[in-house]
Amino acid sequence: MEELKTKTSNKAIDLENKYGAHNYHPLPVVLERGEGVYLWDVDGKKYFDFLSAYSAVNQGHCHPKIVKALTDQASKLTLTSRAFYNDSLGEYEKYICEYFGFDKVLPMNSGAEAVETALKVCRKWGYVKKGIPKNEAKIIVCKNNFHGRTTTIVSFSDDPVAHDHFGPYTPGFISIPHNNLNALEKALEDPNIAGFLVEPIQGEAGVFVPDEGYLSSAAAMCKAKNVLFIADEVQTGVARTGRLLAVDYEDVVPDILVLGKAISGGVYPVSAVLANDHIMDVIGPGQHGSTFGGNPIAAKVAIAALQVVKEEKLAESAFYLGNIFRTALGERISKHPLVRQIRGKGLLNALLINDTEDSSTAWDICLKLRDNGLLAKPTHGNIIRFAPPLVMSEEQILECVDIICNTIKEFQVEKK
Ligand code: PLP
Repeated sequence: MEELKTKTSNKAIDLENKYGAHNYHPLPVVLERGEGVYLWDVDGKKYFDFLSAYSAVNQGHCHPKIVKALTDQASKLTLTSRAFYNDSLGEYEKYICEYFGFDKVLPMNSGAEAVETALKVCRKWGYVKKGIPKNEAKIIVCKNNFHGRTTTIVSFSDDPVAHDHFGPYTPGFISIPHNNLNALEKALEDPNIAGFLVEPIQGEAGVFVPDEGYLSSAAAMCKAKNVLFIADEVQTGVARTGRLLAVDYEDVVPDILVLGKAISGGVYPVSAVLANDHIMDVIGPGQHGSTFGGNPIAAKVAIAALQVVKEEKLAESAFYLGNIFRTALGERISKHPLVRQIRGKGLLNALLINDTEDSSTAWDICLKLRDNGLLAKPTHGNIIRFAPPLVMSEEQILECVDIICNTIKEFQVEKK
């Protein structure tokens, strides 16, 4: 494995290793600047960003309009807490509700917090509106899910790394296979089901796109059983998959929509839970909240970030560029012995490597991609996610296709 050798980068890596908890395993590259689709390391080497901070930087790095919203507000008023009203939150709440077509929003900060919020809203709705007996509410989730890292969320993760040794676990979750309507139908027979939590495309699991019709059928089945359909679009939302929301492909309107990451363009931690009044009204004062949730900076930043998505037609770009990307990769490397599958939607894509889950092949390819000027990260030992900022040009994406294909061709292996 080739490491970066410079003093500055080694120092930065050593500091993180010595003083930071080892809860991540970063690729050895030390970044100091970003602009649009590019990142620069501490030695001035330029890279295409093909991760976009796990799909948070859909609008591109340091987008001037979003950064201006941040700095303007930061020099005026940063935080009031929700003990008082502020002059930005209501404006943002109206904007995001109208943008996504819901009555109300509950503002939070991280994606995991927003998922927790959705689970609480769903459980409470189950008790006070659906009439589920006390402490009996259950929520259906999907196998191989990723919804964040809190104790409750990892309780229903089946990834041993995320789950093991963090018990005792929160009860009340039923896990069924993703993309399996029969399993959902069976699980929905239980009268104490309050909700179904699903990622429209499973991102962290390795960009698993369900069959066409799965989401619309699942939503209809939930409706028939008076169960809330909760879409976690923290990663897929905000134009990433080629539509504003991934559920838009099937004209599904979730009962609860969970957003995070790109609603701030990666500039500030902003997340949101959206629902209509008959659901959101179950939450009263003191029952949920966060000191930073809905602060004036978050409000202004999110408005600017969402405006950029519309003004720059990012959903349309993601759709168009995604097709070009998958077609070009397919034509050039699908026959390579290392390549098993290229899949995805819009600019949320993955390359499945012909090797075992615990192999280091995907990691080694990412190191070579780095050397060749493109930053991507494996989601598992044999899957590399490709998710560049959506502000790419066609010329840039084709340059990236060249880098990826040439890099893969450097790996000469026998077909397994
Ligand atoms: N939900 C989904 C679908 C995600 O992909 C993620 C993060 O990758 C989260 C929730 C958690 O978001 P955060 O890391 O901001 O807590």
